Amino acid sequence: METKELKQVLNGGEFLVNEADPQYMFIMDDMTEEQNMVLNMVREYIDKEVLPHAAQIEKLDIELTKNLLRKAGELGILGTSFPEEYGGFMQDFETNMAITEYFSKTRSFSLSYGAHTGIGMLPILYFGTEEQKQKYLPSLVAGEKFAAYCLTEPGSGSDALAAKTKAILSEDGKHYVLDGQKMWITNAGFADVFVVFAQIDGDKFTGFIVERTWDGVSFGAEEAKMGIKGSSTRQVFFENVKVPAENVLGEIGKGHKIAFNILNIGRIKLAAGVLGGSKLIIDHSIQYANERKQFGVAISSFGAIKHKLAEQAIRTWATEAAMHRASRAIDHEEKRLKDSGKTLAESLLGAAEEYAIECALLKVMGSECLDFVADEGVQIYGGMGYSEEAPMAGAYRDSRINRIFEGTNEINRMLSVDMLLKKAMRGQIDLMSPAMAIQKEMTSMPAFGAGDTGLLGTEMDYVRNMKKCFLAVAGLTVQNLMMELQKEQEILMNLSDMMSEIYLCESAILRTKKLAIVKGEGFIGDRIAMTQVFINDSIERMAVSAKNVAAAWAEGDTLRMLMLAIKRYTKHEFVNTKNLRRQVADTMLAAGCFCFND
Ligand SMILES: Cc1cc2nc3c(=O)[nH]c(=O)nc-3n(C[C@H](O)[C@H](O)[C@H](O)COP(=O)(O)OP(=O)(O)OC[C@H]3O[C@@H](n4cnc5c(N)ncnc54)[C@H](O)[C@@H]3O)c2cc1C
Repeated sequence: METKELKQVLNGGEFLVNEADPQYMFIMDDMTEEQNMVLNMVREYIDKEVLPHAAQIEKLDIELTKNLLRKAGELGILGTSFPEEYGGFMQDFETNMAITEYFSKTRSFSLSYGAHTGIGMLPILYFGTEEQKQKYLPSLVAGEKFAAYCLTEPGSGSDALAAKTKAILSEDGKHYVLDGQKMWITNAGFADVFVVFAQIDGDKFTGFIVERTWDGVSFGAEEAKMGIKGSSTRQVFFENVKVPAENVLGEIGKGHKIAFNILNIGRIKLAAGVLGGSKLIIDHSIQYANERKQFGVAISSFGAIKHKLAEQAIRTWATEAAMHRASRAIDHEEKRLKDSGKTLAESLLGAAEEYAIECALLKVMGSECLDFVADEGVQIYGGMGYSEEAPMAGAYRDSRINRIFEGTNEINRMLSVDMLLKKAMRGQIDLMSPAMAIQKEMTSMPAFGAGDTGLLGTEMDYVRNMKKCFLAVAGLTVQNLMMELQKEQEILMNLSDMMSEIYLCESAILRTKKLAIVKGEGFIGDRIAMTQVFINDSIERMAVSAKNVAAAWAEGDTLRMLMLAIKRYTKHEFVNTKNLRRQVADTMLAAGCFCFND
């Protein structure tokens, strides 16, 4: 698996068998003046208009939320993913990711914004007819009306296609009669337009656009939620609702295309949001640790606290590196598809589909990073972490939803492996030849070459071996279990985690290398430290996952051979993680914030 020539951008899933050029990695310095102007406008709106009302929003003041969304509409902020012909001012994917990240400061409000501009409006843009787009999008972009997305039902959550809501065509063919119940619908308390999924004739899963004011549409009470309490979440009931036939969204029986494609984009956007949330918690944690004194000194001087701060930052930084990498790849693919004559919808949906594996991994790793960061944030605050007077209690509760929606983390883990194997079977990615080469190498004597002498060369060699470890273990597992693998969910979870470790480790290296190119090697000392700690611990986690997979099915000589291969490919010199973490923590403590936003 030696790489001769580095590709600028890898295809989806290809990171497991190939290497990318660090020059192409996204860093914040790559943002153009125009992108920064848009971002600054969004920041000003959030800082001046939204944040002063943060506490009131969390009390579920729906009128306030609507007014603030309206204001966003007036400023054009609801239209950054929508073309001019519908009132928007379309920005590229990277800018929209940066906007999503900044919105996370607004807690529940970011959900109202995200559900409206994302799962609520995008299905209409991507799957609507021209008439539907002209009818609905301008007022939604302007913030005069609001949108929601109704997929989940009491009996169908993860198994979304088992929805029972039904739609029956009237005898004159002019409308469908919609009957059913949706649950957990964000923005249901005030949305005017609903994208609803129902079964036509019991088995044709189809999307519809439904309006709030139509007869037969009613709502449950606001859910009493654990967190994100300022976001409206209700059940929506449909009783003999007459939906005009022209309000079918997309093709009849192809509702799954809408539901799943929109989720790919939602997942990577969720990653941008949760990483913004992580950074905010780290800022609070640093400030508190510097202020709070025990035993006569600031608690930030204690090694145990430094460890927590550094680990919060390291996980956030490595996950963000992967998120930036995937955003750039999606942006690149979207532009390529547009240039090849594809429509706007085909381009972004096609790009997100190409990187659906990365989107699923990022959803999982991002949401679990935020939960870790929030949990340690509570701990750094001690008793105050448990108090509503301080920001951590709310952050802890809010963070938890991210592992549940946009596909639970279990579903996303399984999906990531499933999608990889399907890509391999379709011939879109060649896993077989590198896996066979590794199987040959596994039983031969290790070659003691010079190794990579470049920046973070040792770490890159570790990542190359991590890929070999994955290919060795996954390859033999697939060969042996074949179709049975689908039933072995524990193995799928382990394989998915191995993929994530590889993606994050390599992305951290690419980010550091790109920063070295752009800002010089003097700039990157702490980034090297973060990368080294992350990779050090990641290899250990990878080894455990790999051993769990091997021991789950292999026996005798095969098991022994696999265990030896795992040992060989996860071998590494342990670094002094204590000192490296202290270095990272000290830099942040001196700066008074998370200072690795580059
Ligand atoms: C605050 C909030 C806002 C939401 N907003 C919206 C919205 O706007 N629109 C919308 O349509 N939905 C929304 N949802 C619904 C959300 O998407 C679902 O809750 C989620 O998909 C999980 O479905 P479920 O709750 O039915 O859990 P279940 O599917 O019942 O899952 C329960 C557990 O079983 C696991 N599980 C399920 N199936 C499998 C399997 N095959 N293999 C292994 N494990 C499995 C899950 O991972 C989970 O751990 C929202 C939910 C919440 C809580």
